[in-house]
Amino acid sequence: MLIVQKYGGTSLVDAPRLQAAARRAVGLAKQGDRVVMVVSAQGDTTDEMIEKAACINKRRAAREMDAYLAAGEQMSAGLMAMAIGALGHSAVSLTGWQAGIHTDGAHGNARITGINCERICRELDAGKIVVVAGFQGVDAQGDITTLGRGGSDTTAVALAAFLKADRCQIYTDVDGIYDRDPRQFADAVRFDRISYDQMMALVENGAQVLHDRSVEFAREYGIAVEVLSAFTGAPGTVVG
Ligand code: ASP
Ligand code: MG
Repeated sequence: MLIVQKYGGTSLVDAPRLQAAARRAVGLAKQGDRVVMVVSAQGDTTDEMIEKAACINKRRAAREMDAYLAAGEQMSAGLMAMAIGALGHSAVSLTGWQAGIHTDGAHGNARITGINCERICRELDAGKIVVVAGFQGVDAQGDITTLGRGGSDTTAVALAAFLKADRCQIYTDVDGIYDRDPRQFADAVRFDRISYDQMMALVENGAQVLHDRSVEFAREYGIAVEVLSAFTGAPGTVVG
């Protein structure tokens, strides 16, 4: 099976969590699955980077902001590949552009226009776990772009679509999709399954568990997206 699994910032916040994600991927690879991991920047890294940039220049160029912010995910990818290596499995980290993720030129909110999967497929064929930095791509000028806040979800769903993956898993800090914010409403109900349209309606109402474009992508390509807890790994909600 080819599995794409994405880990958000809270699921990678420190070494133990990063290592737990690495162990999960290695476990699958040892069973014979081909694994592509998509990683976000660790913890609040992106927020902290944005604050730092605001101190330097309040009217900074969007192109430079993308060059800078993409580094958060790049760090996670390198660390994850090292964590997998420490478990005795081979892995390779790839930035968005190394992974062949092409976007339009809308810095800060770019759209994925296509993915050239050659490099990823070559690395998978060589038996490696491929770790892709989320949230980023390259535009037609060769410049680094980012996909908008929360955009690593879209990286994962787009990769699942272009790689024709068997499964697309979004590991996060909640155990699925609820009808209301479970942190605010004790009686919120978790869905086992939810349609793309229902999910889109939740996102439009402010639910942040999935990036809006990831849901659009999933609907367009018919990808079933599993949203589940990185801490327990228990079945969560299937979108689509
Ligand atoms: N690190 C980026 C953000 O905080 C992208 C992501 O996590 O999906 O928005
Ligand atoms: Mg998110």
